[in-house]
Amino acid sequence: MSGSVCIHGHFYQPPRQDPWLEEVLPEASAAPFLNWNERIARECYYPLAFARILDGEGRIREIINCYEWINFNFGPTLLSWMEQHLPRTYARILEADRISRERTGHGNAMAQVYHHTILPLDSPRERILEIRWSIHDFKARFGRRPEGMWLAETAVDVPTLEDLAAEGIKYTILSPAQAKAVSPLEKDRWESVSSPDLDVGRPYKVFLPSGKTICVFFFHAGLATSVAFDGLLGDGEAFWQKLAREAGEGMALVATDGESYGHHFKFGEMALAYVIDQVGKNRQGLTLKNAGQLLDEFPPKRKVEIRENSSWSCAHGLKRWQEHCGCADGGHPEWKQHWRKPLRRALNYLKYYADEHFSRKAPEVISQPQNALAEYGRVLAGLQPRDEFASSWFVSPGEKESVRAWSFLEMQRHCLAAFASCAWFFDDLYRLEPMNALTCALRGMQLLEETGGSFVREGFLQLMEDAESNRSEAGNGRSIWAAEIEPRRISSRQLAFTGFVAERVHGRKEFPGVRIRMHAGKDTECPRAEVIWERTGVREWVIAEFTGGGLDECGLLGDAREVRFNHLPPRLRSLVACWSASNLARKQWADVVQAAAELVRTGLYTEPGQKELVRAMRGLAPGLVWSRIQGEPVPDRVFDFARRIVLANPLVAETVREKIQERLLQGLSAGEKDDVLMRIITRSEEAGLAPDMFEIRNLIWEDGDGRGGELLLKAGIASSAGVR
Ligand SMILES: [Zn+2]
Repeated sequence: MSGSVCIHGHFYQPPRQDPWLEEVLPEASAAPFLNWNERIARECYYPLAFARILDGEGRIREIINCYEWINFNFGPTLLSWMEQHLPRTYARILEADRISRERTGHGNAMAQVYHHTILPLDSPRERILEIRWSIHDFKARFGRRPEGMWLAETAVDVPTLEDLAAEGIKYTILSPAQAKAVSPLEKDRWESVSSPDLDVGRPYKVFLPSGKTICVFFFHAGLATSVAFDGLLGDGEAFWQKLAREAGEGMALVATDGESYGHHFKFGEMALAYVIDQVGKNRQGLTLKNAGQLLDEFPPKRKVEIRENSSWSCAHGLKRWQEHCGCADGGHPEWKQHWRKPLRRALNYLKYYADEHFSRKAPEVISQPQNALAEYGRVLAGLQPRDEFASSWFVSPGEKESVRAWSFLEMQRHCLAAFASCAWFFDDLYRLEPMNALTCALRGMQLLEETGGSFVREGFLQLMEDAESNRSEAGNGRSIWAAEIEPRRISSRQLAFTGFVAERVHGRKEFPGVRIRMHAGKDTECPRAEVIWERTGVREWVIAEFTGGGLDECGLLGDAREVRFNHLPPRLRSLVACWSASNLARKQWADVVQAAAELVRTGLYTEPGQKELVRAMRGLAPGLVWSRIQGEPVPDRVFDFARRIVLANPLVAETVREKIQERLLQGLSAGEKDDVLMRIITRSEEAGLAPDMFEIRNLIWEDGDGRGGELLLKAGIASSAGVR
């Protein structure tokens, strides 16, 4: 047997970045993790980059990077998050593409539609932007042009394929149900086909009206179903057997949601690692290949006509992203999705006015605004410096004009981001995904108004009134907007405050998209904060009246500050609470501990004061726990009280756990003594915050020089000899 298998992983997360901060804020439903990106990364993206192959006794025999052996696409919004938050995994993904390219002449990575919008539902201009920005982003990350592009939900029509071909994309992957008719390449002898009969053992060619062509792989439906629904990833050997059987002497491409490996199916990454290991042993001659290789080795022999306006996740074509069609995920089969239509209409309404404003007014500050917008993707990707872009496209170098020009470009970006397909995918309007789309719309609308465009909010909300949630308490789109979306708008003052806390307490200087500069005031004058939006070039000055001495700097203690803290939107509030887990100056911290001890002492004697006490301690608790874990003298009683507060709030607990993790990894890389690190682990366990040993084990394993016994034991590795 000498079959070739291509396992494709489509890795995707709905965009969660706050459009003001360019940062993913805490999401309560992801607890004990900070947000869903963190959670899925820990369950899937990270283990795939460091997947274990065990020996007969269950010890680690080898750690492999699965991304080196599968075809994959991630997409810009997820990769930009990973770049900041999971640098090691991110580096492994880039490395996987480079190594596979050296090995095979083709990289494993495939591009993905920039905002994951349903391209056939986009306007021609939007479609081009989504494709071009995606290519810019891909080039910036992988250092080459993409050969293939993954279409969101594999939604396709002929104009979409035309645009892909025009941009030099060689192939895409579709579901076999999206093939309508096939014919030999050289002659026109068309036969209509249905999914089960379609031969997916070779890619097909599509001849487009323009005369261009593009190749299409149809994935193996049986394999995809077994992975997604029949629990095939529960057993590595069964997975291997099935792949080998289906590939036979030819090829098979299995397309899966990347999150199947570890998130949808626990330890799914180990089944994949097992298959990779078997292939490495050259068992039965089966090989794993990427799509580029398959295209070389199995060139198309037939052409195909695709089913227009079809997708892989809606049996009704593209209705899932426009109306109630019966397709929905989310666990409430009885719910209706009539809210989909007004949601799309409202977003289209906003986009219509944004487009109109852009074409009428942007020329005042941008020359050839449409072309500039397409090229703006290069700035977003980091391929072109902002000032260079400004000097090629902006009409005037003046600051006011530049701010206006950047605002126009950003308005278009946010309005476009609102169309990410996930907003319509699930069963209700009152969920994270549609609300994230509406948040992008709010940001776009704000920029539309700030650049002198029409006031479209009322018209937008009238349309949203028709979007009824299935949860009667949530009401319709207008009430959700008022209760959930409008409060997400973040003012400069709130940003300055948050930035201030971040810098002082957390040691963090900036958000990815916004920089806060603090300027000390004179004796009688309040300090001032300068809020700079890096992307729009907008600046604003704010009086930073929330400063003070000592404890008050947390912004969490003292009545006046408590009021201001409570004025923050809930999302910022929880962020600030997390940040307070970090270091103040040592001397200040001794005061904090003393004050906390005093609070606990008095609190213990006045039972009714307990609630107040918890409130007062809330901001301090994480820092107190963290200090004790690091070996600072925090009295038992205070520690115990603080510990309980931390554990009662999963968000805060996770943040502290992360800090512990970070500390241990730093210690390990710096060659710190085992007993020091062991004490940190023991004290963390005492606090009920045992660190995640997965990454620690990997690091010890990679280190491989048989470092210290105790830590290795703790990490579940019997001896250094057992490591290799
Ligand atoms: Zn449907």
